[in-house]
Amino acid sequence: MSNIKELAIIGDGFAAAVMVVHLLRRGIAPTAITVIGSGALGKGNAYGCDNLHFRLNIREDLPIIFSNDPLHFSRWAKDNVNDPEAKTDAGYFYRRQDFGRYVFELISAESKPDEIEQIKAKVVSLSSDDNSWKLVLDNQAVLRAKRVIIATGNPPPTWPCVVTTPYPDLSASCLVENPWAGHGLVGVEAHESIILLGGGLTALDAINNLVERKHLGQIYVISPRAIFPPAQANWERKIQPVWPQNLSPAKFIRFMRDYLPSISTASTEWQSAWEELRTNISIIWQQFSVHQKRTLFKRVGWLWNLYRFRASPQTIAAYEKLKSKNQIQFVLGRAIEIKCTDSRVRVRLGNGINVEGDRIINCTGVASDPLLNQLIENRLAIRDPLGHAIAVDASFRVIRSPSDRWNSLWMIGPATMGSLGDVIAASAIAKQAEQLAGQIAGG
Ligand SMILES: Cc1cc2nc3c(=O)[nH]c(=O)nc-3n(C[C@H](O)[C@H](O)[C@H](O)COP(=O)(O)OP(=O)(O)OC[C@H]3O[C@@H](n4cnc5c(N)ncnc54)[C@H](O)[C@@H]3O)c2cc1C
Repeated sequence: MSNIKELAIIGDGFAAAVMVVHLLRRGIAPTAITVIGSGALGKGNAYGCDNLHFRLNIREDLPIIFSNDPLHFSRWAKDNVNDPEAKTDAGYFYRRQDFGRYVFELISAESKPDEIEQIKAKVVSLSSDDNSWKLVLDNQAVLRAKRVIIATGNPPPTWPCVVTTPYPDLSASCLVENPWAGHGLVGVEAHESIILLGGGLTALDAINNLVERKHLGQIYVISPRAIFPPAQANWERKIQPVWPQNLSPAKFIRFMRDYLPSISTASTEWQSAWEELRTNISIIWQQFSVHQKRTLFKRVGWLWNLYRFRASPQTIAAYEKLKSKNQIQFVLGRAIEIKCTDSRVRVRLGNGINVEGDRIINCTGVASDPLLNQLIENRLAIRDPLGHAIAVDASFRVIRSPSDRWNSLWMIGPATMGSLGDVIAASAIAKQAEQLAGQIAGG
């Protein structure tokens, strides 16, 4: 086959970009790399946003791209970002779009313009064919590659229940299905009543944006629990916890509970202890059986999701502001139907409650990745222990069957969480890219 690519990366977001940077730093030729994705390389769903009020949920020393230079971003930001509002008592929390600019610049620092081939398309199918990989794109083109890295990231949210609307394609402005980029919040009128479906970091982003826009209407947050993640405190890892041997999920939970002080989760002490525990959590997670992983996630998955990131202090301050004016309220439950008429949106919850507003913003989190689902259907991969994505081993090789791994197909990024543990944040993904680049360049 004449035009076979050496190494194709599927996805164009943060994981793909840091993968490219680390491959180049390891001496892989730029001409050997092909990226497939339709956006600006490095920005993806998280950092491609054009909203000035969407901030990183971690302070400036935490997005570590190079393990031998952990303060690279922090220095870059000091020299290149004009954002007086970034500074808080817990550190600098920069805008996500500025971080996207940083990641994009990392590529230019390692290669000449357009030296890395990027094919602006989506991969709709991936199959193994004649000792190579066949990639079918959404523009009908077909590519072949010797080796493939999947870096398709967080699939954007989709409505979690039936939506009925007089508009055939769900394009009504009162229905914001994917708020990650921030466009859906642009046309909001000051007096509109807003329904936020979901109570996590995406809802907090929307809240920060609404407060900055001096929103006056009521805001309803539909969620099974009336609690938001706390603000990031100025935590510090001081000691390394000594985990007991032979942990079961119950012992694991007990150890964490005993280690964490009985004080507010917003305090520096609590968050320092929590972050100390996090250091080894991925290693421990990987030692559990599939059944144990499922049990653990079922019992404490929601707590994990609540506390692993926390939010920027600016974002929580915006929420507190709304709360003090009684302008925001939680409505407990899960949506089972959304009805949109010409002027109103009505949400029916499973517990019989109805919530009405002018606009609904879907803050329910990641959806399912069609490409990964297809690999499972075609028996090229198996599900990860949580059933969220495909399984990989500790070397990021996609697992074909319990006894077989691909040596030319890898995956990095948040979709590896079910297999590898605490790997959603930027620094954890960059570490994966650094390790995988070492493996590929070395072998
Ligand atoms: C809204 C949001 C905010 C976040 N904020 C933070 C934060 O502040 N700090 C932090 O540490 N982490 C944050 N995260 C966590 C996030 O997981 C990582 O930081 C990181 O952005 C993930 O990078 P990724 O490349 O895996 O995914 P993404 O950046 O989402 O990139 C994946 C890209 O692949 C493309 N793609 C998908 N499927 C295909 C296909 N079949 N073919 C071609 N291209 C495809 C997508 O369009 C997308 O551009 C955030 C995540 C989200 C969603």
